[in-house]
Amino acid sequence: MQEYPRYLYRAPFLVPGNGPVIVDGAVLTENGLVVAVGSYAELKDVDAQVEDYEHHVITPSLVNCHAHLELSYLADLSGDCPSPGDMAGWIRKLLSARAAHDDVAAQNDASLMALARLYAGGCRAVVDIGNREESALIGGGFKTEVLFFLELLGLCGESEEAALSALAGIDADVRCTAHAPYSTGPALIRALKKRAGAALFPMHVAESAQEIEFLRTGSGPFAAFLGERGVSVASFVPPGMGVVRYLDSLGVVDNHTLCVHAVHLEDEEIALLAARGAAVCLCPGSNRFMGVGTAPVQKMFAHDIPLVLGTDSLASNPHMSLWREMQVLREDHPNISPEAVFAMASVNGARLLGIEGRIGTIAPGVSSSLLAVRCPAKKEAELFEFLTSVGTDISLEWLE
Ligand SMILES: [Zn+2]
Repeated sequence: MQEYPRYLYRAPFLVPGNGPVIVDGAVLTENGLVVAVGSYAELKDVDAQVEDYEHHVITPSLVNCHAHLELSYLADLSGDCPSPGDMAGWIRKLLSARAAHDDVAAQNDASLMALARLYAGGCRAVVDIGNREESALIGGGFKTEVLFFLELLGLCGESEEAALSALAGIDADVRCTAHAPYSTGPALIRALKKRAGAALFPMHVAESAQEIEFLRTGSGPFAAFLGERGVSVASFVPPGMGVVRYLDSLGVVDNHTLCVHAVHLEDEEIALLAARGAAVCLCPGSNRFMGVGTAPVQKMFAHDIPLVLGTDSLASNPHMSLWREMQVLREDHPNISPEAVFAMASVNGARLLGIEGRIGTIAPGVSSSLLAVRCPAKKEAELFEFLTSVGTDISLEWLE
C-alpha cells in the first residue's frame, strides 16, 4: 500500500530553471521531492494522482536575496517618496521613526506579516538583514527559509571600536555582516569579512551618489548626517575612490561577497567585481523609490557577474514582491532578456545561497515546493515576457 500519494502536476508550460521550457509539461512528486520532470506524454502512464493546471505555468519557487524583515513595521515610510536620491535624508527619517516606536510585539507581528507576504508571492528563501539578534528567530516555523544576518555599524573612533568589541562577544553561529562603507569603518569591515570566511558576505554597496561623494571627499549630506548622530566624521579618512575599489583595497571583495544595490559603479569597478567573482543583488524597486538611479545592469550582465534580486525592506519599497522587482527591472532595462530576469529571481539566488540542490530549479531530487502561476501565454515566446512583467497582478498557488 502506498503511504504517501504521488502527484503528477501538468501544465501547458513548465519552466525547469536549468534547461528549455517544456511544453505540455509535467512533474512527478513524492514525499516532498520531485521524482521526475518531462513532457506529459512521457510521464502520463506513471502511477500518480494527476493535477491538471490548465492556463498555468509551473515554475521553481523564488529566492529573495535582500530584505530587512525587521523594518516591516516602518512600512508607512514607503508611502512618501524621499526627494530623489536623498539617502541620508531618508535614513534620518527612518531612524526617527524607529526611535518613536517601542512596541516590540507589533514590530514582530509586522515582520511575520511581511514574511507571510513573501511566501504568498512564491518566495521560498530570503536573505534577511537585521540589527537585533532576536530577529534571527523571525523565520521559525515558516516555509520560507530565512537566512538571517546580524548587521553591524560603526564608522570610526569609539563607534567602530564598540562594534568590534561587540562582535567579539557574538556567538559563532550568528551570521554577521557590515551595513555599508559609509557607516562601517575599514577595520570593522575587514573583521566581519574575516569572520564570515567562505560564507556569504552581503553588504550595501554604492546605493546612492551621496555615498560616493562621502567616500571620495568625506563631505556632503552623509557627513552632515553622521555628524548629527555624534560620529566624529573628521577622524574618518575618506578613501577618495569608488566604493568597490575601496572595498577591494580592504581585501573584502571575492566570490563570497554580495554587493547589494551596486548602482553607482565605475566601469573599471564592474570589471573588478567580475574579476573577483563577486555577485550583485539588484533592488530595482527600492532604487526607484529612493530615486537613486538605476544599476548598470547591462554592463554587469555583459561581464557575467552573478545577478540576483532583492526586495529590500517595506520601509523603502511598498511592495514585498519579487514579481514586482522583475517588472521594475524590465521597465528600467528593456534590453535584458526576460529569461535572464526570471533566473535572477529564482535559480541564480538559489545558487548564490548554495541551495540549488533543493530550490530554484525543477529536477529530480529538489523540493516539490513549486509554483503554479496563472498565465495567459499561448506561445512559449510569451511566457517569460508575462512572468517578468505581471508584477503585483500575479496569481499563483503553491504545489507542495
Ligand atoms: Zn538593504
